Amino acid sequence: SAKAKGKNNFQFFSDDMALIASRKIALENDMRRAITNKEFMLYYQPQIQVETGDIIGMEALIRWQTVGGDVVSPGEFIPLAEETRLILPIGEWVLYTACEQAKKWHDAGHSHLKLAVNLSPLQFIHDDLMDVVEFTLRKTGFPASSLELEITEGVAVEDAETALTRMRELRKIGVRIAIDDFGTGYSSLNYLKRFPLNNLKIAQPFVQDMATNPYDKALVEAMVFIAHNLNMSVIAEGVETDEQLSLLKELGCDEIQGYLYSKPLSAEQFTELLVHGEISTKLVN
Ligand code: C2E
Ligand code: MG
Ligand code: MG
Ligand code: MG
Repeated sequence: SAKAKGKNNFQFFSDDMALIASRKIALENDMRRAITNKEFMLYYQPQIQVETGDIIGMEALIRWQTVGGDVVSPGEFIPLAEETRLILPIGEWVLYTACEQAKKWHDAGHSHLKLAVNLSPLQFIHDDLMDVVEFTLRKTGFPASSLELEITEGVAVEDAETALTRMRELRKIGVRIAIDDFGTGYSSLNYLKRFPLNNLKIAQPFVQDMATNPYDKALVEAMVFIAHNLNMSVIAEGVETDEQLSLLKELGCDEIQGYLYSKPLSAEQFTELLVHGEISTKLVN
């Protein structure tokens, strides 16, 4: 009967929910342990100036190498880290470690490099953010003007007023702000009007389809136009083909990031890239 079927469905659904909940608890516990065990590490993806082909900076991207050796991608644990607020200690570690590493690259003669660090909405509106940023810059000696914090449109969902205050405070000490995954959230244009942003990162889906879909190409063109008219620079994310690169060049995009140039690299691999201009095959992931 329909009733029995409905009941079965419910049963199935709640078993599923229980499974998801227990997996979540296990993951949360693993994540807490990972902080103490130092299982997190950072990879760095080069950012390339379109006009010159030079590396002008890098984005720090977190990886979780579990004791078992598996590498867990941020897409799998950042949402839960956010939900459990574990993103706060993890995010502090990311910022500190990335600034410390980037300072080494600056000191090795690459002082033009800009470091981009992702901040979750919770971190961004948290009361401690300015203390954390100022402490990190002071301790590592990394210059504020070389640091770019990436935020997503999600920050406005949390608390737009606080987000605006934070942005002003960060800009005041010389830190740059980029809007990540632009075009995938809501209120994009409203954001650009209200917030003091330095850099607009065009989200991967637009870039990946622009060579085959004229609508995506038109949207990328519009994003470049809007950014430039608002005195922001534009970087395209997820560039994988020469065709995408030449279109981006034609549309006046300033910078690119993507597998076409390089996957995210370990600090060791990134150093090798800076020194030799390439990575030896034994180092490639
Ligand atoms: P995101 O900040 O938009 O980072 C770009 C993502 O695209 C990275 O994935 C990168 O590895 C990937 N990517 C780069 N080039 C290409 C390409 O050419 N093709 C394709 N298919 N992918 C490309 P990843 O490292 O897995 O990070 C995923 C997301 O996790 C990030 O998206 C960011 O939102 C978040 N995340 C990463 N590290 C951190 C962190 O330290 N803190 C916080 N709060 N979030 C982080
Ligand atoms: Mg990012
Ligand atoms: Mg992005
Ligand atoms: Mg993102």
